[in-house]
Amino acid sequence: STAQTVAQLFALDPLLEPEELAIRDTVRQFGVDRLRPHIADWFEEGRLPVRELAAELGSLGALGMHLDGYGCPGMSASAYGVACMELEAVDSGIRSLVSVQGSLAMFSIHRWGSEEQKQEWLPRMATGEALGCFGLTEPDFGSNPAGMRTNAKRDGDDWVLNGTKMWITNGSVADVAVVWAQTDLADSPAGIRGFVVPTDTPGFSAPEIHKKLSLRASVTSELVLDDVRLPASAMLPDAAGLRGPLTALGEARFGIIFGSMGAARDCLETAIAYAQSREVFDKPLAGYQITQTKIADMALEVGKGHLLAYHLGRLKDRGEITPEQVSTGKLNNVREAIAIARECRTILGANGITLEYPVIRHANNLESVLTYEGTSEVHQLTIGKALTGEGAFR
Ligand code: FAD
Repeated sequence: STAQTVAQLFALDPLLEPEELAIRDTVRQFGVDRLRPHIADWFEEGRLPVRELAAELGSLGALGMHLDGYGCPGMSASAYGVACMELEAVDSGIRSLVSVQGSLAMFSIHRWGSEEQKQEWLPRMATGEALGCFGLTEPDFGSNPAGMRTNAKRDGDDWVLNGTKMWITNGSVADVAVVWAQTDLADSPAGIRGFVVPTDTPGFSAPEIHKKLSLRASVTSELVLDDVRLPASAMLPDAAGLRGPLTALGEARFGIIFGSMGAARDCLETAIAYAQSREVFDKPLAGYQITQTKIADMALEVGKGHLLAYHLGRLKDRGEITPEQVSTGKLNNVREAIAIARECRTILGANGITLEYPVIRHANNLESVLTYEGTSEVHQLTIGKALTGEGAFR
């Protein structure tokens, strides 16, 4: 047949630079060779060989990809985006590993850390030798992190941290946790500060969270800080208030704008291939008008979602992107991706409910993606505030 891809229909590839296309192809091939043969088993077993994969992702240049210096690859934001897209085309859990390491943990140290903190952690994190996590959310404070109860108190020159963080990606496998806590420093709203916590510090533990039905190929943990004593040098010197963690979250959200479209594309390609080979009532499912209506409508959203991602990538490359624009991309692309995953599931019939095909795995994963990095509702409120000038968060 002369079937085209969505990329051809929308002429998407000419929008990327040759270097970005090369990175896209390299990461896509890594997915085919190294990840796709195992991902359904990892999801079913609820585990991910994080340390092994981190070393391989580090060799690929995917960790801290858009950061400069300290052994980081220093690529463009768009290049980072297309890498996220290819990783999430395999599984949102793999892209989460890379987002948390590069955009949350490494970015925080790179942007707000002391020279000593950067030298100590970034080169080893870029190779994947050291793993990081990012602890902001607490059991009682997700969308409203300003209310956090985790606190850091001065004791002589030291800091002593107490509190509990929840839903922390890579928590149990991390060597270093960037932990956000209330302090009595008066120079910022609520005195929130970031701390670089080696996870072997006495009083730190990270029990893994089980029984998840989404992002099963990803490690999610609680962080328990019980009188964790740190030297004065453990605080990130240049992050005062919520601006620190919120800026880092903006970085990771940016990757999700691309990544979610990778998951959507993988679902649509799977559904089209299935419809072409599956015969119902004596002819291929792809030849029925209802199927084609579904496929055409999904292709429009996949194509438009790519255009939005690439456009926002260029804005970020030029240093012009705003938080409201990141919210726009995250809200739209994740919401469309999950709708596409569910629609594709219908085309696969009963086969669609199994791990033999990636579709229900993507759909379930995208439930987490809809919630983390700012829920859809929080992004609606952000966009609503931008357009009306009225804050409706409280
Ligand atoms: P809540 O904030 O309690 O929200 C519940 C509902 O209320 C949502 O629908 C929300 O949109 C809605 N809501 C909230 N505020 C408003 C409002 N003002 N108006 C109207 N509706 C509102 N966190 C980290 O710090 N680090 C991580 O690495 C990390 N990894 C994660 C991995 C997974 C798999 C998951 C599921 C979560 C992860 N999170 C992480 C936590 C995530 O960021 C939070 O779950 C998210 O911020 C939402 O918080 P919550 O779950 O407490 O929901």
